[in-house]
Amino acid sequence: MRFLDEEGFGRLMALLAARGYVVIGPTVRDGAIVLDRIDGAKDLPRGIREAQGPGAYRLEATGDHQLFAWSHGPDSAKRFLFPPREVLSTATRLEGELRVDPAPLPEVRYAFVGLRSCDLHAIEVQDRVFAIADPAYRKRREESFYVGVNCGHPGGTCFCDSMGTGPRCAAGFDLALTELGGGFTVEPGTARGEELLSELGSREATGAEAAAAAAVTDGARERMGRRLETDDLPGLLYRNREHPRWDQVASRCLTCTNCTMVCPTCFCNDVVDGISLDGTEATRTREWASCFSEEFSHMAPGDVRKSARSRYRQWLTHKFASWIDQFGTSGCVGCGRCITWCPVGIDVTEEIAAIRVTDGEVAVAEEVVA
Ligand code: SF4
Ligand code: SF4
Repeated sequence: MRFLDEEGFGRLMALLAARGYVVIGPTVRDGAIVLDRIDGAKDLPRGIREAQGPGAYRLEATGDHQLFAWSHGPDSAKRFLFPPREVLSTATRLEGELRVDPAPLPEVRYAFVGLRSCDLHAIEVQDRVFAIADPAYRKRREESFYVGVNCGHPGGTCFCDSMGTGPRCAAGFDLALTELGGGFTVEPGTARGEELLSELGSREATGAEAAAAAAVTDGARERMGRRLETDDLPGLLYRNREHPRWDQVASRCLTCTNCTMVCPTCFCNDVVDGISLDGTEATRTREWASCFSEEFSHMAPGDVRKSARSRYRQWLTHKFASWIDQFGTSGCVGCGRCITWCPVGIDVTEEIAAIRVTDGEVAVAEEVVA
């Protein structure tokens, strides 16, 4: 384990930019910590922390000098690796001939700074959907550099410890930092991370610094905002698809789609065709979609999931149960964003716990989809 002082951290940011990466990191905008292009450590949220709960989020000044003393805001790397809108191809008609051109592959190379362990795991979850068949995603993903930050400040809605995805970065990073007073401990996770670290003028971390770094994530584990009992979640949800709790949550759910937009693993998308007014050019665009919208389940006879109940049940059951059948991993990394950014404060951990309490008391009926 190495130690990098604050100046060394500044050199890390400068070196990433010098190597041609677009550096994406946390910064304060519109009252939230978002991910955006940053121009060095000066743009990071120094001395800022956030307080969040179901349907609630606000920033506060801490009066100290820490750069990473907060839990994530609504953004995740998803917005960059799988953009909300992306042109897939254009078709042009010229003198009676139709030419179709796939969109050129993206040239941008991102360096993500400050991703938490839950979000590094979320990227690996999205890989299972996009990395095989989507060359633009694959290129962005493979050419990006990942600087993780071990979490010492879990949010009020976080439950990564329950999902086994944090708070300590275990995989998916080139470099993992832990913020201590006056600098960072640094661990390389890849050969390119090691190579970059060798240029930064770090020193070997002392035993006390290594112990302090371990204490940061141990403390985060204890202060985790939420817990979730994960034992046999697929069985629990499949057994209880007629549970009355689905009606209760549906009476609150606005089907606004917020939870799916902020979720770092949700991958559903739609493909939309547009055409120029003179009819000579058409554009095919991919856009984020949500299983909470009515048209999402539109089939020949009409919309399959007509009720909020069926849509909420589908989303939660997919996240915590059928995702495992499909991809061999949970669709939830315990980031808590869907709880914080739900306008009515619906909490997945509370909904699952309520179903577990009365597990077995509700008879399983034949599948009802609407
Ligand atoms: S659960 Fe909350 S965020 Fe999700 S669709 Fe319903 S109201 Fe919106
Ligand atoms: S379901 Fe909620 S807690 Fe789980 S990864 Fe998505 S936004 Fe985060």
